[in-house]
Amino acid sequence: MTKERSPTRWAIDITRVLNEVLKDDRFPVRVLDVAKEYSRQVYPDDAITLIRAERLDGFEGMLAPAPRDRGKSGWGIFYNDHIEVASRINFTLAHEFGHYLVHRKQFPDGRECSQRDMTRWDSEYAKIEAEANLFAANLLMPLDDFRSQLPADAAPTFDDIGACASRYDVSLTAAILRWLEYTSKRSLLVASTDGFVLWAKPSRPALRSRLYIKTRGVPPVPLPESSPAADRAVVIDQTTSMAHAPGVWFPKEGCEELVLFADRFDFALSLLHFADESRRNFDEDEESDDDARLLAADRGVRWK
Ligand SMILES: [Zn+2]
Repeated sequence: MTKERSPTRWAIDITRVLNEVLKDDRFPVRVLDVAKEYSRQVYPDDAITLIRAERLDGFEGMLAPAPRDRGKSGWGIFYNDHIEVASRINFTLAHEFGHYLVHRKQFPDGRECSQRDMTRWDSEYAKIEAEANLFAANLLMPLDDFRSQLPADAAPTFDDIGACASRYDVSLTAAILRWLEYTSKRSLLVASTDGFVLWAKPSRPALRSRLYIKTRGVPPVPLPESSPAADRAVVIDQTTSMAHAPGVWFPKEGCEELVLFADRFDFALSLLHFADESRRNFDEDEESDDDARLLAADRGVRWK
């Protein structure tokens, strides 16, 4: 029996194998091949034998057991054939591969995963989804490689992170969320629609400086009026940037805001870069329990 491994542990173990076997031709991780081959080697009697696109109403991806009543063993991974953004497919497959490795014993009937499910972070159900996302992010975007592409102290543009998104075959949002996990910059990603914040995710240094936006359990948070993300006249897929004085996004901090309108006309991503914290008071450096929870829970964040 293999003893229980954490999602991150699984991803690191597979990463080691891929580093050794593939060497220079390492990225993107072709989950379609890796999931079948790796599961066949580790669990020859219970492997992933089928991965394909399916019509899945309301679901993004699915892990399903082969029909046991017909004497079949093994598992299938299905992804929605209506996924509009091709770069979301690889993450979806990795997410389901994560369910297979970590959760299939617990859920012998499989899992069905929608984008909305990923926003329910306060239940046991949501914890399982978060674990699958954690596995997928670690498998597709190993931090040592990401750091070699984008140093921790860089303040990247959407183009810079977009190059990494291409390298790893993930969506721009997924790549930015991963970068936020290791950057030493005080940065905040804000997803908005119709002039209101949908969700926001700070880097750890930004969180320590209280540069975050709560979106759960509070009334809808409007964007600052002067944010380009609030301007519906901006053309889709166009990026723009603006320097803000203190008082626009946060009372005491100015920032550079990069904006990208993505997916739909009314959906915008703002990436805020704040100045490095040379003026910081050391007494403020303690992370409160509330801050730590906010960071750990990734509440509402959509990896895909
Ligand atoms: Zn899932």
